[in-house]
Order: sequence, then C-alpha cells, then structure tokens
Amino acid sequence: MTEQKYDLHCHSSFSDGSLSPTDVILRAKEHGVTTLALTDHDTLTGLAEAQQAADQHALNFIPGIELSCIWNKKTFHILGLNVNANNAELLAGTHQLQKIRLERAKKIAAKLEKNKIPDAFEAVHEKAGIGMITRPHFANFLISKGHVSTMQEAFDRYLGQGKSAFVNTDWVELEDAVHWITAAGGIAVVAHPMRYKLTASWMRRFLTTFKEMGGWGIEVITARSNPDEIRRAIHFAQQYALYGSVGSDFHSPKNQYVELGRLAPLPTSIKPVWELFN
Ligand SMILES: [Zn+2]
Ligand SMILES: [Zn+2]
Repeated sequence: MTEQKYDLHCHSSFSDGSLSPTDVILRAKEHGVTTLALTDHDTLTGLAEAQQAADQHALNFIPGIELSCIWNKKTFHILGLNVNANNAELLAGTHQLQKIRLERAKKIAAKLEKNKIPDAFEAVHEKAGIGMITRPHFANFLISKGHVSTMQEAFDRYLGQGKSAFVNTDWVELEDAVHWITAAGGIAVVAHPMRYKLTASWMRRFLTTFKEMGGWGIEVITARSNPDEIRRAIHFAQQYALYGSVGSDFHSPKNQYVELGRLAPLPTSIKPVWELFN
C-alpha cells in the first residue's frame, strides 16, 4: 500500500492562486499528494475542472471552499471540505460573497484613484475573469504599474489594514458560513487558527461558538506552522474534540516556502478530518 499524503487547503486561479485547477492537480501529483482538496475563496467554480483532472490522474479529490466571514467584527476563514458543489444553499451563499467582493474591489479601486492610481478596477476585473477578485490581484496591478515592487510592499503601502486603500469589509456571518457548508454535506473547518491572533480566552469563545454552530474541524498543520503553533492547535483540537486537518494553503510556485503536500504529519493523538469523508 502506498503512503497516503493529504493536502486539504489550496487555491487555483479561480481565486488568488496562480495555477489553473488542472495544473494544481498535476503539481499535487508531482509532489506525492494522494488526496487533495481545492479550496478557493468564496467560489466553487474551479471544482469541476479539478475533479476531471484528478480523475484523469488517479488522485483522490475532495471538493472544497474557503469562506470569508465575520465573527465579533473580526474576519475568519472557514474551510468547507467535501461539499456538494451543486447545493443550492451553498451556491447562493457564494453568490452573496461574490457580490460583497465585487463591491469591495470597486471601493479599493476608488481609494487607489484618490492616490492618483487610476483604472485599477478594470485591470483586476479583466485579470480575474470569472474568478474572484482578491487583494493580491490589486497588488499585482500595483507591481505591474511600477507603484510598488513586491506583494508585501503593496500591502504595506496601500492594501493592508489601516493603509490608504484598505476597505473594511462586511463578509457574511460565521453562522451562515458554517450553515451553508453543513447544508451542502460538507465539514466546516477553521482555517489557519493561529493567524487571527486571538488570546486564549477569545479562542475559547470562538471555538465554543463554532462547535455550537455545527463546526467539526480545525487546521492543525499548515505549511507555515511552527512547532509552538502546532502544539497550541493540538491542544485546542483535543480540548474541543475537533477533528484535525492538514493543508498547505498553497497559492503559487513562486512562494518557495509553501508547497503542495509539504506538511508535517498529523499527530496520532488527533482524529483526522478525513475520517468524516465518505
Ligand atoms: Zn485563508
Ligand atoms: Zn487559503
């Protein structure tokens, strides 16, 4: 029996990734992944192509999504794993999020215009095509126009929280995100739990609420987790009896620190989230 390698969090060009769903599958295969979930931001559009490529290349594919939502005025990312991509409720939810994204993009472009940087909306809209417009699209636009030289600089100078082109966004409520995922037969998983910088007591409140809403899992291993973060995530998974997930959050081959399937193993003390797939 070949060794199983899971990667349950990554992005394609349908959101802010640089590879097509087919190329994500091919790259996952190259890196020895045996089960992959594609989890684009707020869209299910890339899943059909990914499924087809996965079938062709004998890779086990899990349809997924990463929903942007709000809880206590803070933005969280919730993964939906093993969702039915044709579920009407989840689809309607993604349409709501897509409208929010479009409005946000227009507002960011208007703010850039005030900084004497015109035509951003048209440019990112064209680049994104039928995919989601994300802040990295704006960052790439700023790089291409010579306003900044790196993605990081684009966020530091314009797009990051509190900067001149930052827009506060009212995503959907956490409760709705978890509900849509569950309605579509999926498993709701907290993505990159350490990135929200919650204090231990806020993390307790958050995870308690998340479970009450029907959440099942937490990402224990990500490509960027350090040993201390993994230790804390294990602790939370155990304390709240949450299933553990592993996901690189791969976006592009350009980022040499994050690769498909390059992940520490899930500790054996944690129940793997894939036990819930059937
Ligand atoms: Zn995320
Ligand atoms: Zn992600």
